[in-house]
This record gives sequence, C-alpha cells and structure tokens, in this order.
Amino acid sequence: MLNLGEGFVRTVRHFWPDLNAWLDRFPDPRFQPRVIYDRRFLVWWGLSLYLFQLGARRQLDFELDRHGTEVLTNLNRLAKTKQTTRPVQDTLDYFVGRTGAAPYAWLRGGMVQRLIRMKALDAARLQGRFVIAPDATGHLAFRARHCPQCLEYRHATHTAYLHQVLEAKLLGPANTVFSIATEFIENHDVDSTLPAEQRKQDCELKALTRLIPALRREHPQLRVCLSGDALYACGRTLQLAQDHDLSYVLVFKEGQLPAVWADFQSLLPLCPENTLEHRPAEGVQQLYRWVHDLSYQDSQGRTWKFHALQCQETVKGETTTFAWITDLHVSACTVIEVATKGGRHRWHIENQGFNRQKNSGMNLEHAYCLRPESLKAYYYLMQIAHMMLQLLEAGSLLRRLAAECGRTPWQLFGGLCNIARRLLESLRYCVWGEEAFDPDPNERIQIRLDSS
Ligand SMILES: [Zn+2]
Repeated sequence: MLNLGEGFVRTVRHFWPDLNAWLDRFPDPRFQPRVIYDRRFLVWWGLSLYLFQLGARRQLDFELDRHGTEVLTNLNRLAKTKQTTRPVQDTLDYFVGRTGAAPYAWLRGGMVQRLIRMKALDAARLQGRFVIAPDATGHLAFRARHCPQCLEYRHATHTAYLHQVLEAKLLGPANTVFSIATEFIENHDVDSTLPAEQRKQDCELKALTRLIPALRREHPQLRVCLSGDALYACGRTLQLAQDHDLSYVLVFKEGQLPAVWADFQSLLPLCPENTLEHRPAEGVQQLYRWVHDLSYQDSQGRTWKFHALQCQETVKGETTTFAWITDLHVSACTVIEVATKGGRHRWHIENQGFNRQKNSGMNLEHAYCLRPESLKAYYYLMQIAHMMLQLLEAGSLLRRLAAECGRTPWQLFGGLCNIARRLLESLRYCVWGEEAFDPDPNERIQIRLDSS
C-alpha cells in the first residue's frame, strides 16, 4: 500500500540528509521558562502548519492532536526526538518569537544551496545559468495600522495597511519554483512629519535594490539569469545586473520602453534572416524574430545595449505577441530556449508560487501572528515547506510509488490539494517505518525531477 508519508520522508532524506543537524544550530529554547521541547521538534512542528496545510496556527491543536493518532511517533522520528507530549500552538509562537526570522532564512538558503550543488535543478538552466524570477505579491492586509512598517494605501473610503513581499524564485525543472531570496517591502525611516501623500514609501523596485546584493552575498558564485516582467525593464535593473554579474531576460513592452520598441519594430524587417518558425504542438504555431544590439538611454542618461526577441504565437487563428530584451546569446539555435526558459516560465512564480501559497491551506495571506519579526519567520517556514512539497509532488519517487498501485499520481490523488490532505491522513494514521528514515545505503534511491 502506498504510504505517502514515507514517500515524503524519503524525499526529504534524499535531498537534505543533514537537515536535523542544521536545526541543531537554531537557538535552543529548553533553557527558557515554559519550553521543554527540542528545537528540532519545534521547527518540524512549525513546518507542519504548511506541510499539512492547516491554514491557521490553532489548527495545530486539533489536526495534530496526539490522542488516537500516530502524530507524535512520526514527528519524533522526523525530528529524531523523544517528546512524550505535543506542544500547544502558543509554544510554537513563543519559540518563533525567541528565534527571530534569521535562522529560518539561513535554513532556506542552505536547502536551496544543497539542491543546486547536487545538480537537482540543472535541467532548468539556461545557457548555463539558473533562472531567478523576482516578483512582488501581497502578503497581509489590515484595516488599521498594524505596525510602523505598514505600507499605507489610501482609498476613497478608507486606508489599507499592507505588507508586501518581493520574492526571488529559482525556476526549477517540472514547473517547480524555489524561494531563494526574500525582501519584505515595508517602510523604514519614513519622515513621519511629512503629510502622508508626500512620504516616500518602500516599493518593489527599491526592494530589488536590496534583494540583488543580498542574493549575491549568499550565492557569490552562482551563474544567474534574472527573469523579470516589464516593470524591471529599466536602468535600475540593468545597472544591478551589471554590478552583480547577472544576465537577464526582461519582458519588453511598448509602453515601458517606447523609443526602443519603435527601433525594434523598424529593424525587424531589415533582418529577415533572424526568423524561426516552430510548431511546439498540434494547432500551435510560433514565429520567433529577433534583433541584435538595440540601444537604450535610461532616465539617468546611461546607455545600455541588448538584444530583443519576440514570439508571435497563433492558436486557433488567434495571435498573441510576447517580447523580451536580453543580454544572452540569441540565434536560431537559442531563441526558443531564451524565450521559454528565460521568458515564459516566469509565469510559474505566479501560478506554482504565489497562487499555490495563497489558495491552499498554506494560506499566504493569513496573519499567523501579529508580531512583525515573527511574521517573517512564519513566511520562511512556508517557503521551506513548499520546497519540500514540490520535490515530493514533482519527484520520480511519487510516480514510482503510484505505479506500484498501477496508477499515475494524478489518477491516484486527482490534484495537489488532495496530496496535502492524504499526507495529513498518513501522518495521523500510518506509522512511518524506520527504513524510510534510515534507508539501506546500498539502496541508493535516485529522485529526479522531470515532467514526464
Ligand atoms: Zn505592519
């Protein structure tokens, strides 16, 4: 019988065999009053919120109750602990309040680093580079000011107090997206003596100016290609790319760069050799065209040179045009890959990334607590759990386990939300066998990520 929990354990063991040792570097709460739980157990307890998609912290007390379930047995095996009781949800919040957000960000960084080093994500590389897509999303919204860092948005009838986040997601194989850098968009050092409409609030592009150097500090050698929407097609991004040795593929829209767009359109007929027709599927026709060495002068008078490419896609008689600017090599051999891996796959950050985290029990827009620093810790826990779930869902192990039941994962589960529910059922009612935690070293399972 398929035990989804054991599949999960094997997946985590395969990609991060040292995970529990990393958790030992978290601040130890056992010397604090009230907390008698091992930090490893508490981090797994926090991850459980998102792995089992409980939706709210109070659900820990109900869904993960130990009475009549195997919850404690399985979590003890996961964390290599011997807890005899389970914490209440307030204990988790107390622990998170003591640790702050930094250890979770550090853990996320180490986990992504490990995936890169073991070459698990190599199939998604573009001209040798990892494609990283920055994009902002709403995180929390309040009707009244929640903290001094809240962004303020005035509407006709009320003011909204928001927290937003700029995420950089590494685009992996099989439509996976892994959080690799995060910058919270929040107000700091805003002159409160000024009238509200004159205060300069934090924004996505300002956050990018903090995010890129932080990404570089954490991954100094990583070969990166930024994949950004039209907002990023500006001098600020190009300067950051130059300063931090990043390539880029950025959405090219007439409204964002009108003069360059006019040059592009007038040069296209002059280079008819830069054309490639492609039929990726029955009834889908693509026409790729490109121009080298366009010139752009930004608002600060800096001059930039890059290539531009467009893809006109016709499906059932309807044509849509997509275009990008890039510094990557563009030719008949590379244009499809640049447009696909560098350009179109950026949509995965929205679909597999933000939408999944908002519209599932991970509940991205739910305030797991109200303290600003702890909110960030919960945010990182969500990113880590989502990373684990994606590897389970997209990994070859799940396909193999499903095949043993004569089915595909889709036939077996019918969708990703069901996998989360089945994982919770497995935690509650199946004992996860020791051999899943300490597999026979001769067994050497190989988990691949692919879309087949
Ligand atoms: Zn706030």
